[in-house]
Amino acid sequence: MDVQKVLYMVGGSGETSYAANSKIQEKAILTITPMLEEAIGEIYRNLLPEKMVVADLGSSSGPNTLVVLSKVIKIISNQCLRSGQQPPEMLFFLNDLPNNDFNNIFQSLNNGEESVRAEKGSISVPHFVAGLPGSFYGRLFPRQSVQFFHSSYSLMWISQVPKEIGDKRNGMPLNKGNIYIGKTSPPLVVKLYQEQFHRDFSHFLKLRFDELVPCGQMVLSFLGRNKENILDGELSTIWGSVAESLDSMVREGLVEEEKLDTFNLPFYAPSAAEVETIVNLQGLFDIIHFHTFESNLDPFHDLDDNVVFDNVQSGANCAKVIRSVLEPMIASHFSSAIVDDLFSRFATHVANHLLKEKLKLPVLALLLKKKE
Ligand code: SAH
Repeated sequence: MDVQKVLYMVGGSGETSYAANSKIQEKAILTITPMLEEAIGEIYRNLLPEKMVVADLGSSSGPNTLVVLSKVIKIISNQCLRSGQQPPEMLFFLNDLPNNDFNNIFQSLNNGEESVRAEKGSISVPHFVAGLPGSFYGRLFPRQSVQFFHSSYSLMWISQVPKEIGDKRNGMPLNKGNIYIGKTSPPLVVKLYQEQFHRDFSHFLKLRFDELVPCGQMVLSFLGRNKENILDGELSTIWGSVAESLDSMVREGLVEEEKLDTFNLPFYAPSAAEVETIVNLQGLFDIIHFHTFESNLDPFHDLDDNVVFDNVQSGANCAKVIRSVLEPMIASHFSSAIVDDLFSRFATHVANHLLKEKLKLPVLALLLKKKE
């Protein structure tokens, strides 16, 4: 699987698009807003920049990247009001892999800018927005040229599926029946995924360290794991339901078994301890804050909602969220012909699961500051 080519969210703004199905991710951005305020406020006060470069890494094609952009502008505007200083000129880079639907963001940008203007009241912050296609596991900017990086719901996507996961052992695919780390995955699969994440995340930190100006900061939030047992992690349950839905299609002859055996996600949900260890081992950033929180996979219910809810409707809501993320990868590896059937099976699976427990998405959120 060439991750750079097949990893992108469903484009456009139609019913199955990421743009129309990214409410949970928006909630995460609202949750980390105090971190944004602290980081941007401190950068502004320390550097009083005349020009400021900010990048959103893994911006995708939905409205959330513009939520981040307007929040950053509002924070700067408030800082200028308080200090009486002229606002800096700001340059925003929206980064994602080359197949991302950048056009969809830029077409909706006018509306976004209007809402920024309406919100900020008296101080207008001049700003420019550019798209930046490329992997955040490679260099994206010149040395010491960026004041602030933001990235949400992106860093759990690793740069590649570890090659050996596709190998066979005694004629059997190493990760038979799974598309990620699942209950029946052998320890080697766990080790390979873990090592890939460690390599990728360490590399990401080094690259961003080089690109940030002194005193630069980053707010990163991404999916992780709360469960102690890695085989039983929250995302293993969700991807396990996709695997079982695919397996039921194999049994009915709708999907080739070999196709399922060779499909593994370029994804890893780390624990908070793993992430903290990598940041500390690298030694390039101070962890200013590290929070974890959970969202419900169903965007229309919060985890603490105790109302009697319709599990079938909720299963369908969850399936739309997952479809908007996985569809391009599924269509490229299997065929676009299986997508409707697959996600309708997945919705039923989830509906049944919801009779036992809600499906939770644990999010890890960090504010990191470049060491002097
Ligand atoms: N930040 C947005 C979008 C999250 S979806 C939000 O919070 O709603 C995750 C995005 O990360 C996808 O668009 C995916 O293409 C992008 N992504 C994954 N790996 C990437 C990489 N190596 N480089 C750049 N973008 C990547």
